[in-house]
Amino acid sequence: MSSVLLDTKPEKPTDEKIRLPGLSRAQIKQHLVDIGVEPKKLNMRTSQLFQWIYNFGVTDFADMTNVAKPLKAKLAEHFTLSRPEIVEKQVSVDGTRKYLTRMAPGIEVESVFIPDVSRTGALCVSSQVGCTLTCKFCHTGTQKLVRNLTAQEIVLQVMMARDDLGEWPTTQENRKLSNIVFMGMGEPLYNTDNVTDAIDTMADDTGMAIGRRRVTVSTSGVVPEIVPLGKRTSAMLAISLHAANDELREQIMPINRKYPLKDLMDACRNYPGLSNAKRITFEYVMLKGVNDSPKHAMELIRLLKGIPAKVNLIPFNPWPGSDYECSDWETIEAFGDLINKAGYAAPIRTPRGRDILAACGQLKSESEKMRASEVRKREKLDLAKEQNSL
Ligand code: SF4
Repeated sequence: MSSVLLDTKPEKPTDEKIRLPGLSRAQIKQHLVDIGVEPKKLNMRTSQLFQWIYNFGVTDFADMTNVAKPLKAKLAEHFTLSRPEIVEKQVSVDGTRKYLTRMAPGIEVESVFIPDVSRTGALCVSSQVGCTLTCKFCHTGTQKLVRNLTAQEIVLQVMMARDDLGEWPTTQENRKLSNIVFMGMGEPLYNTDNVTDAIDTMADDTGMAIGRRRVTVSTSGVVPEIVPLGKRTSAMLAISLHAANDELREQIMPINRKYPLKDLMDACRNYPGLSNAKRITFEYVMLKGVNDSPKHAMELIRLLKGIPAKVNLIPFNPWPGSDYECSDWETIEAFGDLINKAGYAAPIRTPRGRDILAACGQLKSESEKMRASEVRKREKLDLAKEQNSL
């Protein structure tokens, strides 16, 4: 594993400059209105900017070759194309890359690029800093919720991974980052509006063009948001299931008390577009002596009846202080065989990035909940430092 503490800070947006990368088309358009772009040229200018930002990934207005010089100067006066600061980047021996990004003072987010997923690679993005849920096997669950991420902060995670992988422009062949999974820090369906807005921006054909079927949103089971998510995004759905009876699921995932399995499975059955070509993935972490017996496998098969489904068996990734152990390999294989025989694909996920704590359920940033006054104090301090260095 290699770990790099990045000491070169990219340009930070000042109070006067608005960061454009990560914003939606509508937001970019509004900012162009605000700086006085003529109404009849507004749509054209918005499209040009959108394409430069999301198709070419430019970080300097000077590179926008089809934009006239006076407008470029005006854009540079009001806006920035800079990215937030990557505080730390770690590369695992297996090629997994973990990024810790400071989106704002006290707001640090982890994203993980996993190579060799689905012929190319996937970026696991975070939707919240911390989490309000306390799934017992999950490291992030031990970190209190600091706040939801904005749609811009979600999109920026993808853009920054592309920067790091050198994958601009979008049309470049053999891109490795082709899939997005919302399986990082947080519960995406407690931040549905920002998650859906971010998916809209990522999926735009003239920009990053990440197909909606290549985006998977994983939820621990926020039942009322599941069908609306499908209607709004057409994204693939994954359910963090981990137990197939209410009693056990309540023990390891307290959200099950609010949304029991019956309600969860009803919402799954009604997920828009559900078919054999668009199956739901059920994530099942293998916890030794807890949920890994043949009886548990049979319960799972009964629960999935009638749902186009695939089961991902995840060997438990230990983290400091965790209460569980990973099931033995033979137990996992026997469990998988039973599921397979019942007609469901049940691949065992290869543990990735274990050496850098980047594997499933291991993410946790150092951000802790700060009072708003503390955040303001830090912002002022940052600004003062910035001014002193000018
Ligand atoms: S598994 Fe997901 S929902 Fe549960 S505590 Fe971890 S981040 Fe939160």
